[in-house]
Amino acid sequence: MIVASNFKMNHTRASTRSYLEQVSRHLEGLSSDIDVMVFAPASCWDHYNLPANLRLGAQNGYPAARGSLTGEHGLEQMREFGISTILLGHSERRHFFGEDQALIAKKVAFYASEGFRIVYCIGEPLEVRKRGEEALHRYLLEQLEGIDIGYANLIIAYEPVWAIGTGVSATPEEIASTHAFLATVVGRTPLLYGGSVNLCGLEDILRLPHVDGVLVGTASWKAEDFCMMLTIASKLYQGEVNGDEGKKGPYYRCGQ
Ligand code: PEP
Repeated sequence: MIVASNFKMNHTRASTRSYLEQVSRHLEGLSSDIDVMVFAPASCWDHYNLPANLRLGAQNGYPAARGSLTGEHGLEQMREFGISTILLGHSERRHFFGEDQALIAKKVAFYASEGFRIVYCIGEPLEVRKRGEEALHRYLLEQLEGIDIGYANLIIAYEPVWAIGTGVSATPEEIASTHAFLATVVGRTPLLYGGSVNLCGLEDILRLPHVDGVLVGTASWKAEDFCMMLTIASKLYQGEVNGDEGKKGPYYRCGQ
């Protein structure tokens, strides 16, 4: 079970330190089987003392170790802080910063060649979803072009563009059918869902088949809320392992 937070352009180094301390303390009391990532801005990177199942990740990276590339950061800057986890292909990079599939595939190939754990994001805009399943599938397949889906350290995050930062998550039915399709394409590569996940919807999403975890933006920025998400994920995971998943829960009641 994977739970990841995307800070986007939020938090400072000081607030990241206290966030990570709080999350680390919280994880001590939970099953260590959940796998947690926090994607923080480069200005927040530092040498943090983290438990093995909590990784600090980069939100983007240029596909080079160093170079004359004003405003970018690359491998050398990440290695200084022991970062070997990266988020690539996020819709905000694709749509606001004009990153095309060729550049994103180059980034994925470069960081894969360095052994990074890569969370690779794909997802369709609303007009594509409105065109129906065939158009949706075609669009998602195009976003897998040039990506080595056999790379062992790859995780795919399905994040519909219309659900990111809008407060409107895809429905469990939409997530289930898209993840079922993606599972036929990517095989055993873990699949995350992202797009306005919050404490209320988390449990239903994590219970869906072919959902191996979530990537959370806005609702993860307060450490207490993220910790509560980790508790829910951990309880669900324990239920799964014990084979009594259906009998337990709900672990969170909306409006609490
Ligand atoms: C994201 O940034 O990947 C994301 C899913 O954001 P939000 O949860 O705010 O929709």
